[in-house]
Amino acid sequence: MQTPCPLCGNDDAAPWARENGFAMGKCRGCGLLYVNPRPSDADISDANKVGVHRGEDGALDVRTRYKASKTAHYSKVIRELFGADWADGKPIHWLDVGAGYGEVVAAVRQTAPAGSKVHGIEPMQPKVRKAQELGLPVTSQSLDDIPGQFDVISLINVYSHVPDFLGFGAALAARLRPGGVLFLETGNAADLASRDAFPDMLYLPDHLVFAAPPQMRMTFEKIGLNLERYEEQPVDGLVWCLKKAVKHALRGQLLLRMPGRSPFRTVFYKARKPAC
Ligand SMILES: [Zn+2]
Repeated sequence: MQTPCPLCGNDDAAPWARENGFAMGKCRGCGLLYVNPRPSDADISDANKVGVHRGEDGALDVRTRYKASKTAHYSKVIRELFGADWADGKPIHWLDVGAGYGEVVAAVRQTAPAGSKVHGIEPMQPKVRKAQELGLPVTSQSLDDIPGQFDVISLINVYSHVPDFLGFGAALAARLRPGGVLFLETGNAADLASRDAFPDMLYLPDHLVFAAPPQMRMTFEKIGLNLERYEEQPVDGLVWCLKKAVKHALRGQLLLRMPGRSPFRTVFYKARKPAC
């Protein structure tokens, strides 16, 4: 079914990419990239539960495993972005939504003030089991099942999987205490000149939407949060380039990239709920 832009409601989009039997368009109103026609809600949630998406070209498997290096990376990012907020040493309550194997939950445990509480929720059962085996507080509960208000809700590389973010984002904002922060990471694909500037597969329709800072600023405004700060980081470091080369070599292709050349960035956003 053809859908209007989930951010501004405009129904005029320029073709941007095709992959795996799906088309992605760029909204001529706000610049958001979104899969259109969109898979049905039933298909989206079923695929999410098992971690596998199928397109016309065959199966697409998005399952991975717990990575300690990811915890180290997020500990550093969280220290940089929240260190000043936590200077008074007051314990905080943090909820990680779409916690995966619990790497971010583990990073918060390492960095937040003593006495802080952190919890992760994750829809994919195999990931929940794995995180629990590692002693991490990750469960398959929904947002409504978790009581209380939070100082921080994090949404790390989840945004692009949510077909219609405004409703979901407003529900998250409602669960922040006044002055609380929505901490969100997603790529800047909507800033790229064309699909060719994106350094990887798009993984459609596992990814349904791509934004960049202008679209995220508009999103936060619509859900009643103030964009306080954002940080862009390159993703094409040396390790990333080597991994891509190996992945392509396994498929019998030669792909050599120089680190730091891609205009693609991952972006960390801190959006704050007004204090009163
Ligand atoms: Zn739009």
